[in-house]
Parts: sequence; structure tokens; C-alpha cells
Amino acid sequence: MQPIKNAQTQQWQALSRDHHLPPFTDYKQLNAKGARIITRADGVYIWDSEGNKILDGMAGLWCVNVGYGRKELADAAYKQMQELPFYNLFFQTAHPPVIELAKAIADIAPEGMNHVFFTGSGSEANDTVLRMVRHYWATKGKPSKKVVIGRWNGYHGSTVAGVSLGGMKALHGQGDLPIPGIVHIDQPYWYGEGGDLSAEAFGSKVAEQLEQKILELGVDNVAAFIAEPIQGAGGVIVPPDSYWPKIREILARYDILFVADEVICGFGRTGEWFGSQYYGNAPDLMPIAKGLTSGYIPMGGVVVRDEIVEVLNHGGEFYHGFTYSGHPVAAAVALENLRILKEERIVETVKAETAPYLQKRWQELADHPLVGEARGVGMVGALELVKNKATRERFGDLGVGMQCREHCFNNGLIMRAVGDTMIISPPLVISKAEIDELVTKARTCLDLTANAVLG
Ligand SMILES: *Cc1c(COP(=O)(O)O)cnc(C)c1O
Repeated sequence: MQPIKNAQTQQWQALSRDHHLPPFTDYKQLNAKGARIITRADGVYIWDSEGNKILDGMAGLWCVNVGYGRKELADAAYKQMQELPFYNLFFQTAHPPVIELAKAIADIAPEGMNHVFFTGSGSEANDTVLRMVRHYWATKGKPSKKVVIGRWNGYHGSTVAGVSLGGMKALHGQGDLPIPGIVHIDQPYWYGEGGDLSAEAFGSKVAEQLEQKILELGVDNVAAFIAEPIQGAGGVIVPPDSYWPKIREILARYDILFVADEVICGFGRTGEWFGSQYYGNAPDLMPIAKGLTSGYIPMGGVVVRDEIVEVLNHGGEFYHGFTYSGHPVAAAVALENLRILKEERIVETVKAETAPYLQKRWQELADHPLVGEARGVGMVGALELVKNKATRERFGDLGVGMQCREHCFNNGLIMRAVGDTMIISPPLVISKAEIDELVTKARTCLDLTANAVLG
């Protein structure tokens, strides 16, 4: 970190250390260093308390799809708070914003997915998934169908069910997780785990693990398979082309539900409204959050296929919900966010113009001596930092990814490090000129990192 110039920064850092326990943080490490204090944002840029302007290559946390500073979203919240700041949806009541939002999501969702159960976050959406799929099968007279198959290194949130459905071993290690009834198969991470296989052969091979797992457990015990169309937090893992067709083929053979976690891929990230549409997948349930409100206010949900709703209609009371399920202010903001995405043709522009441009420019970084692979789809990308490009040899525990992230921060760019994989997920409204700036800055930071680690 650069020397602190602004006295107030130090005050905030001290207060933070004394009173705040931030999420996903090594407290000792942070306290030694002091948090970077972000004070405002506009478009694709954020500013810190030291006055640095930084291009936010991560759209906050994959969520600020329409970019920062959209006054319409603030106005929608203000107006709704004055009209009806809160009312619950338990016990047979509703309000206009939640009903209109459910309809607006049904309009853009894949064919045959016309209902939404609202939550406060993506994690809550995945908790809802676990309860809903088990309730569904019990209602259908198949209560033994309980096990959910997830994937190693998948991410489905940080609640007990979310971490369990996800496959991050470090997270499982804290708190005796996963809970029973959740198992995992390998991820389609060809660069990291493909060995000598071609990408296509590897994609089919890991997809076939789904079938093996279903047979091992017995199809009468399996409720669902859950996966992100493209793994986000795991390191922007784009599956080989053979993967999803093979998974679809297997799912068609067995009577289990398909849950596509669209928390990152949803709302335009891939250049389609949902990642499932990008891959031609037809899920039964889609957890959503993040881009739903462009992160301006918390909200999540689960989009549900009609056949499942028909069964739930005969399941008696579904004893599940949150005080803030379908919160009217969040719903009003989400509706306005969807209006902006639609009327400004943001998803279409991503698909036709900016995503192809980003991916072309991103690929140029593959020639850098540190970069073993550059990959991406739509508005996400990853760079694999390696010691040896030919053998894919890694740096090990040197924290090279974190070093690179630090160089980025200090040079006006936010890139996230997942181990030694650098990832981006910029606001969908990023312009071509801003993409040029992102790629130029990324190269500078790769150079600085290479100077330090390659000598
Ligand atoms: C972020 C994320 C979640 C969790 O959402 P929260 O709102 O943080 O609870 C779930 N699934 C995926 C794929 C995510 O990226």
C-alpha cells in the first residue's frame, strides 16, 4: 500500500480495526495494513479516501451491471420508501412492486420459468433451493430424493447451505461442512486440472462424473444437480464446449432437478439475459441476486419452472421465507434496473459490441510471459499466472496473484486474485475506450509483477 496522505483515512482505518469485522478477511493481515476506504463511485470508476480514481474491473462484487451513479435507481428507492417502505408477503398479502418485478423477471427468463421466490441475497436463494427441491420431491411422493450434487470449487454463497452446496474446501474446513446430503463432483477446470487431455475430452470426462455419482447414490436418492453456468468466485472457469451438452444428455436420462446458479451469470453478464440461455441449458431452478438490482440494494430470488410450481401448489404451506423476501424498496430498484438494462439495450450491446471487443483485447494478454492462459466469455475474464507457460508450472505459495492485485490497486485498476488466477467482471456499461484502459493497466500490472517474480 502507498503511504497515507489523508489524515481521515487513518482515522477510518483505526475505527474499522476497532469495531468492524469485515467478511472474507484475514483480520490480522488487514489490521497490519489498514483497509482501503472507498468513498464514492461513478460509471465504471470508484474513488478511495486518498483521492485515487480506480477502474472497477469487478463491478463491485460482480454486481454493478448498469454502472455506478444511476440516479434513477436512487429515485426509485426514494419514491417507494415514501409510498410503502415495507410490508411483508407472509400470510396472503402482496404489494405492487414485488408482483410487477416477478412478471418482469418471467418475461426475460428462459421459456417455462414464470415464477419467482424472493430472498435477500444469493446465499438465501440457495438455501431456498435446498428446501424447495426437497419439499418438491416429498410432495411428489418421493421423499427419499434428498441429495444434491454440487461441484468442487463451485460457489453458492456463505450460509450453511450455501457453503455446503459450494465446493470450496477451505470454507468447508470452517464449521464442519458440508452438511449431510450434499456431495460434489469435479469442476470443468481444464487449464488447472485437465492434464494431458484435450479440453473437449476433459469436459466430457468430468461431465460423466455426474452420471457416475447419480448411479452410485441411486437416482431415488438424488434431488438435484447445482452448478454455475460459468464458475465465478472459483476463478472464472469457462467449461469446455463439450461440458454442458454432456451434462444435458445425462440430466435427460435421470429424473433429477437442474439448478443453474445465475447469481453472477444472470442479467446480461454473458451477453444473454441468463448464462443458461448462453449455453442453451434449460434449468428447473435459477438462483439470482447481484445484477438483479445492480447491487444498489440487496435482493435475491429463485426463478422456478412451471412444472415445479404445479407440484408446490399441492404441497400445503411452504414453511419458508424471509422478513425481507420481496422487499418493496428492493423490488422497486430491481424493476428500475431491469428497465434501464432493457431500454438502453445494455445486454444487446454487450453481446454485439463490447464483449467481443473485451474478449479480443483480453486475448492479447496471453502473449505476456506470466500468462499461461487468457480466457473469458461476455463480460468476465481470467488470466492464469504461471512460472512456466509450456509446462503450466505454478508459483506455489508466493502469493503472486495477491502481488498482482496490489499492483493493480496502486495503478488504478481493480482485478481480483483467486490464488494465481486474475479475474475481471466489469460493469456491463464499460465502453471500448474504458476496455482499452483496463487492458493497458492490466498489462502494466503484469509487467510489474513479472519484474518482481521472474527477475
Ligand atoms: C455471490 C454468489 C452467491 C451468494 O450471493 P450473496 O448475495 O453473497 O449471498 C451465490 N452464488 C453465486 C454463483 C455467487 O457468485
